[in-house]
Amino acid sequence: MSHRAEVVTVPAEFVGRPGNLPRHCSRHGEPAVQHKDFLLQSKVKIQGSRFGQVQGRGALAMAERLDQHGKKVRVAEVKGWPLCRRCVRTRARWLAVACVFFLGGLALFAGSLIVAAVTDGMPWLAGVAVAGFALMPLSAFPFVRGSMSRLIGARASDDGSAVLIENPSRAFAAELPTTR
Ligand SMILES: [Zn+2]
Repeated sequence: MSHRAEVVTVPAEFVGRPGNLPRHCSRHGEPAVQHKDFLLQSKVKIQGSRFGQVQGRGALAMAERLDQHGKKVRVAEVKGWPLCRRCVRTRARWLAVACVFFLGGLALFAGSLIVAAVTDGMPWLAGVAVAGFALMPLSAFPFVRGSMSRLIGARASDDGSAVLIENPSRAFAAELPTTR
């Protein structure tokens, strides 16, 4: 992807053992106020067939791709990843936005249906219901922004044996045994 990004590779074994990770966050290099356990996914890379090869068997090709997807995604377990105050705040904010989108959309959708059921004709209610319905899937975007992977700028390697950290802070990198 971005060629300028400095990527630091750390073995998954190391990251998966509690107490190994640095005391400073990977983004800002500030002291951690929280340590998180979670799973990191590898990048989803689906080897699509080229044009022409699969024309006419859409469903089959799709099933093949989904199968590949399941096989290709690897996860690495992370124990006690450091998050500083700013990281924690950023995550909380994005997740709150996602929640507002989802619950707000749900409330609009359900609310307008209920109002439409108890009142007679109010054509604009259908519009409100549609807007509410459209809002719910939009919550996926802030949700992804608040995800650990995006927050810390790390993912599992394609074979799941290592964790790749993009442009880690100096304080974080300094506390790692293996760099580059
Ligand atoms: Zn931070």
